[in-house]
Amino acid sequence: MSQTTEHTRSYYAYSANPSPQRPALQGSQQADICVVGAGYTGLSTALHLAEAGFRVIVLEAARVGWGASGRNGGQIVNSYSRDMDVIEARHGKDAAHKLGAMAFEGGKIIRERIAKYGIRCDLKDGNVFAAFTGKQLDELEAKKRLWESYGHTGIEMVDKAGMARIVDSGQYVGALLDHWGGHIHPLNLALGEAAAFESLGGQIFEQSAVTGIQHGEVAVVKTAEGQVSARFVVVAGNAYLGDLIPKLAEKTLPCGTQVITTERLAPGLARSLLPGDHCVEDCNFLLDYYRLTADNRLLYGGGTVYGARDPSEIESLIRPRMLRTFPQLKDVKIEFGWTGNFSLTLSRLPQVGRIDSNIYYSQGCSGHGVTFTHLAGRILSEAIRGQSERFDAFASLPHYPFPGGRLLRVPMLTLGAWWYGMRDRLGV
Ligand SMILES: Cc1cc2nc3c(=O)[nH]c(=O)nc-3n(C[C@H](O)[C@H](O)[C@H](O)COP(=O)(O)OP(=O)(O)OC[C@H]3O[C@@H](n4cnc5c(N)ncnc54)[C@H](O)[C@@H]3O)c2cc1C
Repeated sequence: MSQTTEHTRSYYAYSANPSPQRPALQGSQQADICVVGAGYTGLSTALHLAEAGFRVIVLEAARVGWGASGRNGGQIVNSYSRDMDVIEARHGKDAAHKLGAMAFEGGKIIRERIAKYGIRCDLKDGNVFAAFTGKQLDELEAKKRLWESYGHTGIEMVDKAGMARIVDSGQYVGALLDHWGGHIHPLNLALGEAAAFESLGGQIFEQSAVTGIQHGEVAVVKTAEGQVSARFVVVAGNAYLGDLIPKLAEKTLPCGTQVITTERLAPGLARSLLPGDHCVEDCNFLLDYYRLTADNRLLYGGGTVYGARDPSEIESLIRPRMLRTFPQLKDVKIEFGWTGNFSLTLSRLPQVGRIDSNIYYSQGCSGHGVTFTHLAGRILSEAIRGQSERFDAFASLPHYPFPGGRLLRVPMLTLGAWWYGMRDRLGV
């Protein structure tokens, strides 16, 4: 399916802060580092490196924040899509301790960026993991103990009675509230980070899809009408990278998730839905996630389907889920519906590494990428500056290709999603 290179028609594009249209790359340029992709991974890396005094050029196929970074649920969720207990069981104590020491850093980087550069992106504190069953609640208690053992001091369990101050839905038996989590207007965060990068002399070219990378001591990154020669390259195209680097594509599966946004609600109604103004995700494998926007809309996402859908189909997919949570919204209109792709890995852990001595990448946050991408930018910039200890902690994790190759990836994942969907419905 062909995709426009302008922003998708989302609530975020509608409410974006003013931002310039950047030129396409033409002719030859030189830089210390060339970054491919202007989502959070690319922008975070570029900003860290520009702060350290490097000359950095970012090449973006579409617009700044056009991919998942400008379309997501806006939820600042700590840690990784697989937690430290799973990392310890699969990869040992040492790996778990090293990754655990960084598990809450991404959210801190976001808050530092917002404060330092005055980014207007509606930051609110607090994210909630809501449980439907006693089993899920037990798992949340275990998560709390685990996170506390890694130094988190801002989490509380909420029982069924306490849920009234969190969310006006009868579905849940309790929750975990993470005060270090929160939510933001994701496109405005990306636009603000791009502006911060440019204020330090960094350059971004939009509508400049990278078509090839010539490896070498000085790598040459090519677009249709130009090229950038750079000592280092960072590939940050994630689920939208396509076949540019087949070795990276075979290790991830792009998955679509859909979001709808209601019309503006009366402030009293909006506040009654989510009295603490926190964001919520539920504990199902195929989870729902939602929050209020700054102008009192409910923004509700969920489901995982492969490939893009049109907005009317998106409304018919997501609205019933929203009404299961909030039947009181049955007469409310939906004003926006859109889809976006995130990148799933088989282990559900992010993949950070090098495809040559000077070509780095990070991809595959598996649905929880707002915080990790910001951490990834910092550890990639550290590695390029010669401090690779934290980069190595991630790079040493195995990156499994999807079994059956590219042809079987989608049917296998669809079958897997069906299986987990069944488990969610049966509450097992
Ligand atoms: C609908 C949705 C909801 C989500 N909700 C949440 C959430 O609430 N919380 C959370 O933690 N995570 C969420 N995620 C995941 C999170 O948004 C992503 O993990 C994160 O934004 C990935 O950032 P990225 O920079 O790696 O990739 P992207 O933001 O996708 O950026 C990649 C960029 O690279 C560009 N690109 C690709 N190929 C090329 C090329 N050849 N040349 C030049 N540029 C190229 C693309 O155009 C794109 O702009 C969600 C994802 C989606 C899709």
